[in-house]
Parts: sequence; structure tokens; C-alpha cells
Amino acid sequence: MQRREFLKWTLGAGTYGAFYLAGLVKTGHTQSNNPAIVQPPLPFQKEDLEPYISAKTIEFHYGKHHASYVNKTNQLIAGTDYEKMPLVDIIQKTVGVADKAAIFNNAAQVFNHNFYWNSMSPQGGGDPKGKISQKIKETFGSYQKFMDAFSDAAISQFGSGWAWLVLDEGKLKIIKTANADTPVAHGMKPILTIDVWEHAYYLDYQNRRADYVKAYLDHLINWEFAAQNLSG
Ligand code: MN
Repeated sequence: MQRREFLKWTLGAGTYGAFYLAGLVKTGHTQSNNPAIVQPPLPFQKEDLEPYISAKTIEFHYGKHHASYVNKTNQLIAGTDYEKMPLVDIIQKTVGVADKAAIFNNAAQVFNHNFYWNSMSPQGGGDPKGKISQKIKETFGSYQKFMDAFSDAAISQFGSGWAWLVLDEGKLKIIKTANADTPVAHGMKPILTIDVWEHAYYLDYQNRRADYVKAYLDHLINWEFAAQNLSG
């Protein structure tokens, strides 16, 4: 599915918005004969983010890491109460439950990756436009201050995790989460994310996480997706 079709599909799909639906896609690739959770197709071609993120990175990241989280989630929920649940419900019902940690980690990583691919665009990067631009200025003071704060969160996340722009009780905030943790487990609505697990950038940037974060902000960040999440 190309990005335009994905956007049309998400916009037509109801008031919960693209962020919620990113976890519920029932079309595209299938991972087993009758999977409960399906890996959505990428919203771009694997080479489209070059030179900032290589096709090789996408092959491993989407094709191996993300696919593996999808497969493991399906294995873990097979025959359980979670089998027929939407992805976000699985995440919200397993967060903080010690003996459900494996289900939470894999399901949350499915959601986070679905959301991450859509947070980037070959036409992305630079200043936001329209209503979200005003809200960024109101909240952070300027676009530069937003970039500095988002970048700090992404770079300072110790070890594996994610940095996010979220809506929390109507206010934009920048947060970071460790490992698989995700804002949807804590009542926040994600607007944009960057994956800062090493597997997201190591082939292209080795240990230079800051360069990967800068490339994401300057060239890839998808304000169109952010605007939809803000209004959805
Ligand atoms: Mn990842």
C-alpha cells in the first residue's frame, strides 16, 4: 500500500485517528495462515529514505525485527483471551502485568514500529505547516526549541527505546520510553515517534545516534501524519 492510499484509508476509518489504526491494519502481508495481528505494508519503498536511512537498514528493521515482533505476538496470543483483541487493547491490558511481559513487549513493539514507519516520509523534514505549527510554537516557543527538546530526548534515552511527541490531556509533550514501552499504554496519544534502538541506525550511523536523529528531523519527519494524529 502506498502512503497516499494509507492516508486515505486511515482518514476514512473513523474518529480514533491514524495512531490507533496503525495497530489494527488487517490488510497487506500475512505472517501465518490466520494471524490475529498483521504487519502493515511499509508506507514507502525500502530505498525511499536514502541516503538518510538505507534500504539495507529497512530490510533488517522492517523485514526482520518488526516482522519478528508480529510473529511472536501471534504465537503468544494464540489460544488466549488476547487472540481476538485489537492490538492497542492487548497493550493496555498487559502493561505492568508481570506474567504478561512477553506479550506486552512484543505487542507494544508491533504498535511502535507501525507508528514509526508512518512518522517518516521521503518528502518529510523541516518546519511543520498549518495548525500543528501553531501548536508547536505555543507549546515549545519555537520550532527550533521543539527540535532541540525532541533531539535531547532521543539522544539521552539510555539504551534502547523511543522518543515521542504526544498529546497528554490536550497538551503537546515530548517524552521518551524505554525498550518496548509506549504512550498508548499510559493514556497518551502519540503524534510522532523515532526509534532509537541501535537496530534502527547502526548499519548507517554506527554509534552516532545524534546524526541519525538530526537526519530524521531535517529530512524525514512526517508532519502530515502528525497533523492527522493531532486532529484525529
Ligand atoms: Mn526498531
